[in-house]
Amino acid sequence: MTLHKNDDIAAGCLPAEQLAANFADVAPPLSAHAAVVEAHRCYYCYDAPCVNACPTSIDIPGFIRKIGNGNLVGAARDILSANPLGGMCARACPTEILCEGACVFNHQDSMPVAIGALQRHATDHQMAHEAASGKPLFTRAADTGRHVAVVGAGPAGLACAHTLALSGHRVTIFDAHDKPGGLNEYGIAAYKTVDDFAQREVQWLLSIGGIELHARHQLGRDIALTQLREQFDAVFLGIGLGGINALQADGETFAGVLNAVDFIAQLRQSDDLSTLPVGQHVVVIGGGNTAIDAAVQSVKLGARQVTMVYRRGAAQMSATWAERDFARKQGVVLREWARPLRVVGMPHAGSGDVHASAVQFETTRVDAEGRLEGTGETFRIKADVVLKAIGQTLVSDGIDAQLLTLDGARIAVDADGATSLPGVWAGGDCTNHQALDLTVQAVQDGKLAAHAIIRQFARIVAKAV
Ligand SMILES: Cc1cc2nc3c(=O)[nH]c(=O)nc-3n(C[C@H](O)[C@H](O)[C@H](O)COP(=O)(O)OP(=O)(O)OC[C@H]3O[C@@H](n4cnc5c(N)ncnc54)[C@H](O)[C@@H]3O)c2cc1C
Ligand code: SF4
Repeated sequence: MTLHKNDDIAAGCLPAEQLAANFADVAPPLSAHAAVVEAHRCYYCYDAPCVNACPTSIDIPGFIRKIGNGNLVGAARDILSANPLGGMCARACPTEILCEGACVFNHQDSMPVAIGALQRHATDHQMAHEAASGKPLFTRAADTGRHVAVVGAGPAGLACAHTLALSGHRVTIFDAHDKPGGLNEYGIAAYKTVDDFAQREVQWLLSIGGIELHARHQLGRDIALTQLREQFDAVFLGIGLGGINALQADGETFAGVLNAVDFIAQLRQSDDLSTLPVGQHVVVIGGGNTAIDAAVQSVKLGARQVTMVYRRGAAQMSATWAERDFARKQGVVLREWARPLRVVGMPHAGSGDVHASAVQFETTRVDAEGRLEGTGETFRIKADVVLKAIGQTLVSDGIDAQLLTLDGARIAVDADGATSLPGVWAGGDCTNHQALDLTVQAVQDGKLAAHAIIRQFARIVAKAV
């Protein structure tokens, strides 16, 4: 990323202790006592709405009851057998629009049961228990001799691999990055997943056995889909969205204009946050998760003024009300109904590059048909750093064109994740699933595809008999 350090862009704006406090666990774990008390608040509803609201359909009343009874291993089994990445989901899920949003307490003017925190309590306990005792929760079935290629070690690919391995199938995962985990490792805000949790969870997941991981193997560069289809019994694609939408505004290429996901990835991979340069005046463009995370983390790094600007109103933002609230409380200024016209630049004395100095916006409104239009009224916001968070796109290199949806935006799949190519399944953000792009949804997609692959193998065996 191009950032020239100057008076306005500097590293180490905050003392080390302050940085450590800013990036500490945003939702610290419950104590054993608090977990039991919280568990006892649950009504253990029959046909519980929280279960229907969880994309992975965890038996939430069941696991909460077990926590209340002190059976943490049983609780972890309930969670992880439905969602093998239950530890990360407990940290990352926007529970306010999922399980906790559906809790019956919301209709009684009470706080919903803290389902995410309870889920974390049980899964953290299980990981620690396994590390200490060496006793795994799950045992892999006998090897079936079937071998599946999984491309992408994000939540979708990992969930698919774990489900297949549990049933005795062998899995080889190929991932373009250095480290597995996908956006769990490179995207989720640092304060949601402290202590290298993403890597610890991947290690736990791989400990089931039967899964081989090849990092730095990119589909379309190091491996081809035709080759995978020939060499493996099935293929699962969980490659996420690796491309970035363009701002399509003048000045987009100026130094200081960065992709928010790259900024976040750099932050997540940093061993020393005091070395990361941060602008004093940061403008984040977008209204989703990525925009919120980029804005909040800029504040936490020490930026003096962070403004997040969205072209429509708060109600249309994909960031939830809780995320918007959190960002505001952290000091992010949210501005709605404005679109960027151009990034204003200034020559940088040292490098000869033109560096961002402000963004000019036009205010917007919707016309009678609901289309967004500019009002002609403009304003400027000072910006040494501009973070673009206007959505990610599929990089389709290495994917058969016939797998793509008509507009080419995502891989077309059916409800089981089957693509139009026999033997090839796909899931997670890279697909046209009719759901939000969330960690928990990617896990569910990977899990469903694995079950479909398992059924397909069983059909082949049945036919052969
Ligand atoms: C900044 C940010 C913050 C987010 N925060 C949250 C949050 O707080 N809560 C939440 O629920 N969701 C959040 N999300 C969304 C969530 O992270 C994604 O929905 C989820 O990670 C999708 O999982 P996936 O497995 O489909 O893809 P990814 O996590 O993107 O994983 C895809 C994997 O495929 C690999 N890959 C890509 N192309 C290739 C190739 N050609 N060959 C081989 N490997 C390849 C990549 O290296 C990567 O490891 C966030 C997203 C972003 C961008
Ligand atoms: S996986 Fe997410 S949505 Fe499902 S119960 Fe757990 S925290 Fe709630």
